[in-house]
Order: sequence, then C-alpha cells, then structure tokens
Amino acid sequence: MFDQYPHFDMSRRIMRMHLRPLIWLLCMPALIAHRNRLEKIGMEGIKPPYLLLCNHNAFMDFKVATKATFPHRVNYVVAIDGYLKREWLLRLIGCICKRKFTRDATLVRQLREVARRGDIPAIYPEARYSLCGTTAVLPASVGKLAKFLKIPVVTLICHGHHINSPFWNLHDRKVKGTEATMKCLYTAEQLAAATPDEIYRRITEEFSYDDYDWQKRKNIKVTYPKRAEGLHKVLYQCPACMTEYRMTSHDDILQCSSCGKKWRMGEDGQLSATDGVTEFSHIPHWYEWQRSNVRKEVQDGTYSFRCTAHVDILPKDRYIHIGKATLVHDMEGFTLRGSHDGSPYEVRWPASELYSCHIEYDYLGKYGDCVDLNTLTDTFYIYPEDCDFSVTKLALATEELYQHLNGGSVG
Ligand SMILES: [Zn+2]
Repeated sequence: MFDQYPHFDMSRRIMRMHLRPLIWLLCMPALIAHRNRLEKIGMEGIKPPYLLLCNHNAFMDFKVATKATFPHRVNYVVAIDGYLKREWLLRLIGCICKRKFTRDATLVRQLREVARRGDIPAIYPEARYSLCGTTAVLPASVGKLAKFLKIPVVTLICHGHHINSPFWNLHDRKVKGTEATMKCLYTAEQLAAATPDEIYRRITEEFSYDDYDWQKRKNIKVTYPKRAEGLHKVLYQCPACMTEYRMTSHDDILQCSSCGKKWRMGEDGQLSATDGVTEFSHIPHWYEWQRSNVRKEVQDGTYSFRCTAHVDILPKDRYIHIGKATLVHDMEGFTLRGSHDGSPYEVRWPASELYSCHIEYDYLGKYGDCVDLNTLTDTFYIYPEDCDFSVTKLALATEELYQHLNGGSVG
C-alpha cells in the first residue's frame, strides 16, 4: 500500500553492534544520577548468546540494559518510529526494525541470525511503554520464540522508571535508587525440557511488576509540584459519576470536570479525594477498574467507537500526511477508511488478531493523542478529531476484544 513512497527495507542484513564503549559512556551519567542498582541472579556462567527480555517504562530501560550486558554485543528490536531521521545510526548499532504488534517472520529469522553470531537479541515484549507502571500484555508467541532460538532466556526487569518519568508526563522527577534485576530464567538445557506454554507462563510471572507499589515499599517521595499533570490521559473515567472523557489534571490534582470531584496525588504516588470517599488510592487499581467497564461493553456486544481522524503514515523514516479518514473501532476490530491521491483505501485490523495496540499521548506535540496501527508494510498514526475519545480506552478495548474472541488466550 502507498507504493508511491519508499518503504523501509525490513529484510536487509542486520549489522553487529558498533560503538559499544561510546554507548556505554553515554548511558552511565543518567544511571549514576539515579543511583541505579543492578542485581544479577543465576547469571554465573551465562555467556552470550542469550535472549534478553526487558520490561518497558522509559528510555532509561535501554541504559540499564547497556550496563547489564556490557561489554557484549546486543541487537535491540526497535519500533520503526525510533528510526526517524537516524536510520543509519540505528543500523550501525545493530537495531532490528519492527512494526508494532505485527506477526513478522522476517524478525524471527533476524533474531536467529543474531544468536548464531553469538550476540544478544534483546526484545521489549510488551512492545510499548507501560501506561501506569504495571505489566502490559505479553504475547504468547514469546514462549515459542524462546523455544525456537534454543539459547538461555534472561529477563531484565527495571523498577522506578515509570515513577521517574511516566509515559503520560515525561518530566524527569529525579528519582534516586532505581532498581533492576537481571535473571537467568532458563539455561539452554532447561529450555529444551520446557514447553512453549510453560516458558510463556514463567516469563509472565517474572514480568509481573507494579511501579507504584514499588514506590510505596521503597518509601520514595516525588516532590515535583506538577506530578499529576497528564494523569487524566490514563485515568479517563470518573469513578464518582462514571462520566468518561471529562477528567483533567493540573499540578498535583486530578479532577472530573463533570461532577467536580478532585483527587490529590501525594508525594508517595497515592491518590486521595480532596472531599469525600477515595475510590482508588492506587493508580493501577483505577486503571483496571476502567478495563473492567470496557470488558462489560465488550461482553454485552455494545462496544463501539467512530470518529474522523487526521492520519499520518510512516513508510520509512519520515511521516507523510495522507489526509482525513474515518476510524471505526467496534466488535469487529479497527477499520480505517479514507482516500489519498484520489485513491480510496480501507485497512482492517480484525479484533481476533490484534492482542494489543500502541497509543501515544500528545505525540511529538503535534496533533494530540493517537493510535498507532500497523500492517507488515505500513504504520498509521491515527489522531481522532472533533469527538470525545480516549486512546487509553481504545487500547483497553483492543485487549478486551481479543481476549473475548479468543477465549482468554493471549498473542
Ligand atoms: Zn465525575
């Protein structure tokens, strides 16, 4: 599709990692500033190649991974938007390009080649930043991939990166004492004896994390005065009056503009109502409550959303605006209809095949919040316009529709 534009060559040979000492040098100041502590468990005698699986909350995750793997060569799987205007650099440091939430056989071949060379293939299997510091859904295919590669499986779980720089407001809160655990889950011999389902379950257990819980346990205070600004992007529904899309935030206050109720975000990351009962003090509980409401709509078969949208595509390493389109998200999945250069197009993402999707809040400060949907050859940035919406709800609905249609299985 959109063949008039040059497309990223996904099948080009992946380079080995260059510039390792420089990358290490560039990563260290931030890790020192945040007094990052790295613990290694079961890593004695584990040498590359091994499959590295990392959780994803902020760019800092890459810096920790650099420290954890140094001085060995790593090939990171990176989403195509990471390549904007610097494809040469990402190729030089051995990155592997992926369009998010697509099933890509080329990627599997590339990962196998990295392992064959004796390097470390590194994946962020959540495939997006966590929205509220808790685990995003993992695809079951990660168990099959580990089994296929036949190399040790190592996890790297970071704590505190969401608290320091949440996805909904990236301001660096200067959190000290961030932590990371690097752990060998399977040696090659143990892997040979395990089934893909067992491997998947074990990885999922290891990926169970909650940054707000971590903050509380570690008694970490965030004194940044505007610490709640942007939180309404994630918490889009008021638990007092049930209204959606009317939440706002400023300074340390989250507020419903429909009923006027306010919650203050404390330095400990917990919420408290300024007047009356506190429905949810723990941000992830509020988020999961919203999910349960979306699930009811899905189970009742009433879930439906429709809007006009501004659409950009990213065939290679620059955005191209392709005009307005209509986005429908309902029990069937996503459908995008529009026309470009006089040719109508329609793209469908069936709900039963899309286990999650990537969203962005106020993406690049340009057109606002967007949903990022991909085919194997195209990436669409879809910005809903002139309607009430929450991209968080679209993401939750994507996951709930998939679960509903696949009897609870994932990926
Ligand atoms: Zn309200």
